Amino acid sequence: QQQELIRNFSIIAHIDHGKSTLADRILEYTGALSNREKQDQYLDTMDLERERGITIKLQSVRLPYKAKDGKEYIINLIDTPGHVDFAYEVSRSLAACEGALLVVDAAQGVEAQTMANVYLALENDLEILPVINKVDLPSAEPERVKEEIEDLIGLDASEAVHASAKEGIGTEEILEQIVEKVPPPSGDPDSPLKALIYDSIYDSYRGVITYIRVVDGSIRKGMKVRMMATGKEFEVTDVGVFTPKPVSKDELAVGEVGFMVASIKDVKVTRVGDTITDANHPASEPLPGYRKINPMVFCGMYPVDSGDYDDLREALEKLELNDASLRYEPETSGALGFGFRCGFLGLLHMEVIQERIEREYNIPLITTAPSVVYKVYKTDGELLEIENPTLMPPQQQIDHVEEPFVRATMMVPNDFVGAVMELCQSKRGEYVDMQYLDANRVNIVYELPLAEIVYDFFDQLKSGTKGYASFDYELSGYKTSDLVKMDILLNGEPVDALSFIVHKERAYYRGRQLVEKLKKLIPRQMFEVPVQAAIGNKVVARETIRAQRKNVLAKCYGGDISRKRKLLEKQKEGKKRMKAVGNVEVPQEAFMAVLQMD
Ligand code: GDP
Ligand code: MG
Repeated sequence: QQQELIRNFSIIAHIDHGKSTLADRILEYTGALSNREKQDQYLDTMDLERERGITIKLQSVRLPYKAKDGKEYIINLIDTPGHVDFAYEVSRSLAACEGALLVVDAAQGVEAQTMANVYLALENDLEILPVINKVDLPSAEPERVKEEIEDLIGLDASEAVHASAKEGIGTEEILEQIVEKVPPPSGDPDSPLKALIYDSIYDSYRGVITYIRVVDGSIRKGMKVRMMATGKEFEVTDVGVFTPKPVSKDELAVGEVGFMVASIKDVKVTRVGDTITDANHPASEPLPGYRKINPMVFCGMYPVDSGDYDDLREALEKLELNDASLRYEPETSGALGFGFRCGFLGLLHMEVIQERIEREYNIPLITTAPSVVYKVYKTDGELLEIENPTLMPPQQQIDHVEEPFVRATMMVPNDFVGAVMELCQSKRGEYVDMQYLDANRVNIVYELPLAEIVYDFFDQLKSGTKGYASFDYELSGYKTSDLVKMDILLNGEPVDALSFIVHKERAYYRGRQLVEKLKKLIPRQMFEVPVQAAIGNKVVARETIRAQRKNVLAKCYGGDISRKRKLLEKQKEGKKRMKAVGNVEVPQEAFMAVLQMD
């Protein structure tokens, strides 16, 4: 039986521990990459991923492997992202697997996201195989790291493979362990079709392509299928596998991983996490869906050119298709016009979406500073959930405000405990716990306001610990805080897109800092522009942008036409990222200025 020869697995790791490199070695070893195709980190396909060295979208690939027992196995590798913002994607890919390789850096040891990923794997009942990577490093301590895996995670690490993905050491042993220890898929080939949609993409020629894992039954070309969540039915026009190139097949059998095409044009029909079944012999129950994860950070996205509004909506629709944690809804700003309020898992997620819209869809954007969701209890008993600071009611109508807190776990070497505690304290953190993991490493737990985390907490943590700290967090609940809305006025007019919510104790300081910053960022106009920060009607800080003195073109003496044109073009280029707010030209950076304070 072919089912016995299938192994579906993922690789999980803390970021930079070598997951992508190991995936490449496995692809090479099994011959899935020809020399021509070979380039580092094959699975990281998006330009953005290569540039930033992070894996964002999960990818899968089917690998043939002839094991030492003489049998030909089909091994499906499903790649997962490593960053804390993308835990949702990790849990999706894990649901399509029976096993996971847990890659741990032999020099760094277990880190915060190693733990977080292990919990996700355990939730999905996966067989976890530890791999100690980077044993080639002089600082590698595989035995110590094994102990850590046993002590901190509670996994048996006695058979953990000692690997160097960089030098290709241990690859065969890893594949042998996958074959031996990861169970084959257990689905029933004779039951009605149940296939899990674990991802999907939009292709302009073929429509929606869904990535599926067949759990029961099988799916064939020509079959009529039904999406169980939406009830919509389609005829399957193609099924196949990734080798890693897409290759068509007649059928995907029970336990297999691959793609399905059914000339689906509407991206909303195929929800990730939904179950596909046979329309003529439908399954009675869908597969358990994914744990729903709510966005934690919101910002406004506005096209620089208002003519791009419809294109922006279309881009968001397509991105949402395979990014279930992305939210958006139309929003109007007095300053920025028509746009969308978008929700993200974290700041990196937000940046990635923003960059993809600009690069892949070619829509220049103005984005506003991110905000968390506040719960505002009004004196009249009404409860408002505020995603946009502008919508905060006037102070006299507010009884109290709650903000989201996270439980943050930071693992750091001893020497940096003081620095980390100081940082957390300065971010309004509340100390929870501290444990010594071994002689030199400490696990510090704090409750912190999410609003402080989404800004530059991670960067500050990294720089304060010379890059040694690792970090993970989860939402822990809402708490009452003394918060006020700060308005920014340009030329006497409040600019809604610049409003932000701030702790009362820091309000004056932040207001002052921001107007100073805006004075530097907003170019001089033909007239004088006052910049003010106000709480309610009370102005707490003021600066003035002086009027422009000279026409820039005057410098060109009229003679040199090409130089003049260049200058004009340069100005136009600069304008792309400017938005006229009333009669003041405001650059993109001004809207994000609130993020880069302290
Ligand atoms: P990922 O974030 O887990 O996908 O990690 P990558 O595969 O991108 O690797 C992170 C960095 O570690 C890269 O610079 C790799 O070249 C390096 N790296 C990966 N595996 C090894 C290894 O076995 N030995 C050494 N010395 N470096 C490695
Ligand atoms: Mg990677």
